[in-house]
Amino acid sequence: MANVLNKEAFIIPEGVVYLDGNSLGPMPKTVPERVAGTMNDEWAQMLIGGWNKAGWMAMPSDVGDAVGQLIGAASGSVVMGDTLSVKVYQALAAGLKMRPDRRVILSDTGNFPSDLYMAEGLVGLLQQGYELRTVAPDEVADAIGDDVAVVMLTEVDYRTGRMHDMKTITEMTHAAGAVMVWDLAHSAGAIPVDLAAANCEFAVGCTYKYLNGGPGAPAFIYVRPDLADSAEPALSGWLGHHSPFDFDLHYKPAKGIERMRVGTPPVLQLAALQSAMAVWEGVSMQDVRAASIELQEQFIEEVERDVPQLTLASPRDSTVRGSQVSFRFEHGYAAMQALIDRGVIGDFRAPEIMRFGFTPLYLDAGDVSAAVRVIKDVMENALWDDENYKVRSRVT
Ligand SMILES: *Cc1c(COP(=O)(O)O)cnc(C)c1O
Repeated sequence: MANVLNKEAFIIPEGVVYLDGNSLGPMPKTVPERVAGTMNDEWAQMLIGGWNKAGWMAMPSDVGDAVGQLIGAASGSVVMGDTLSVKVYQALAAGLKMRPDRRVILSDTGNFPSDLYMAEGLVGLLQQGYELRTVAPDEVADAIGDDVAVVMLTEVDYRTGRMHDMKTITEMTHAAGAVMVWDLAHSAGAIPVDLAAANCEFAVGCTYKYLNGGPGAPAFIYVRPDLADSAEPALSGWLGHHSPFDFDLHYKPAKGIERMRVGTPPVLQLAALQSAMAVWEGVSMQDVRAASIELQEQFIEEVERDVPQLTLASPRDSTVRGSQVSFRFEHGYAAMQALIDRGVIGDFRAPEIMRFGFTPLYLDAGDVSAAVRVIKDVMENALWDDENYKVRSRVT
């Protein structure tokens, strides 16, 4: 296993063990200079000329290709833009259009709420008997019936880290004649993904988690190459038009993946993301995965040895666990605040999940042990039992 540790590439504040890169990745050191360059040399100097001269208009596809490389997508099959919720909506709507005789969207109760909310919104808008059906994660396989138009799942459960078997479920979906949409929010940059092999029609994901693109970084959408000229984008904005600068009165989708663009791309965020993607050059996702599992196994072993107050909420089998470990604790919110106060940053997911992300580019075994020592101290001495830690912030 090649060593993937590259701490020097990131800014991690002194005294912090950052176990929340699954929620918001830390800043790679190259980013501020790149963003400053985009602002000072491009925006300030080129003004509107930047769209052509600085290649701003091509950034959604250029950065899409860089993201695509990490998830086994062919060049020209991924494009960046909007936020993940919007891309979920787009993929889902396009998938439904491909199966006009069917009315069911199948998902699971472990999916991230926004994905389900977007599906509810779409169903409410269509008003043609569409239905969002959610089943328990381990019941998905049995629920893929021949009334299902689209199966929409997130590969790695945001709460527990439990993983779906992407290839098998996609095969079952296709055997039932349905379309597959995978959400890779907790997969891209976390675990090896091979979209070409998975053969799903659509995949979407965000880039501010394991890809370190910064708060509000744009999302990505993948369309299987054989469908890219026929998939209907649903959100028919001018920059997904065949010839936006013809200013036609009617929409005609662009060729290929460009049709999944909607409006003006977030150039500053794309510059930050493009710069952040450089940390993956020469890094194998298999090596990242192996290192992540090592850190997770160490963490579970040490927590279970030293912190009996916590109960493992993630699968024990590392082959079906993404790149995070979650523990249950009744006072999980307060306990996480106490940890954060002591430099161990994870997060809390209601009702009682303490979530810790593992990102081997900037975490090592020493960090894991240091974190467990703090967790032990907080639990053994009930340091969480403090009124200040019980007031919930807007973001948990
Ligand atoms: C993080 C996450 C989101 C967030 O969507 P945004 O539109 O980027 O806020 C959506 N779905 C899943 C599965 C996620 O993990």
